[in-house]
Amino acid sequence: MSGKTFKEASTIRTNFHSHTTRCQHATGADEDYVLAAIAAGYSHLGFSDHSPFPYEDGFVSGMRMRIDQYQDYLGSVRELRERYQDQISIHLGVEAEYYERYQGWLAGQLSSGTLEYLILGSHYDLPEESFYFGEANTPALLRRYAEHTIRGMESGLYRCLAHPELFMISMERFDENCAAASRDICRAAKEQGVLLEYNLSGLYYQSWRAGAGYPTPGFWQIAAREGASAIIGLDAHNPARYVDTRVYDQARKDLAALGIRVADSLLPCAGDSDLAV
Ligand SMILES: [Zn+2]
Ligand SMILES: [Zn+2]
Repeated sequence: MSGKTFKEASTIRTNFHSHTTRCQHATGADEDYVLAAIAAGYSHLGFSDHSPFPYEDGFVSGMRMRIDQYQDYLGSVRELRERYQDQISIHLGVEAEYYERYQGWLAGQLSSGTLEYLILGSHYDLPEESFYFGEANTPALLRRYAEHTIRGMESGLYRCLAHPELFMISMERFDENCAAASRDICRAAKEQGVLLEYNLSGLYYQSWRAGAGYPTPGFWQIAAREGASAIIGLDAHNPARYVDTRVYDQARKDLAALGIRVADSLLPCAGDSDLAV
């Protein structure tokens, strides 16, 4: 029956942006994320915890896994993939900064088949964690974020840019400087074939630093105008994010209303959905 077919197609749910407690700011066992995703009807779950980096200077990050936790992360996701293969398709990636010095290491994780995909989480400028882009609140700092992030997209390693409008954490309103940064980011994303993430985690924040937060309507209007493509990301730091399927399904409708093409996968060569076109 065509009505049934449409209903099934319209409720496709995938999420390739999921964290684990190794990053030090998530809750729940790895398996809890899988069980929550299955219960909520997700067909694909990609783990993409904050990547470790092989720091040469002994730097210890407070917001990503340590390099000595990496094998445990890989092993856990592979074991879950195996155990739940009949119920959900589990994938293995990381969310990583654009740190030029470690691009060779990241590229090696992809070329060796250790990881299936990389998400660009452009949170910090260099040197490591010196400036948090969520604090960008002047035209100069917005430029700094846009330029660094575009260089990351141009590296060709990342399939997706997480929360592209991160600067709205501190920007009170989406002004002409935000629009200019957004236009440059959307244009580069389209040119490089990088998907822009419609990040749903922002909907759960109780408060932002000083800004309006994300998702940001002004940004997505520009993304639509520039013809960039999107993917919906839960950015789940808590298994409960999978439960709230109304938020996910509404995001699909909102992007469709803007005429933005929505991909269902971050895997190489995977087909994009035509649902939202
Ligand atoms: Zn995080
Ligand atoms: Zn994330």
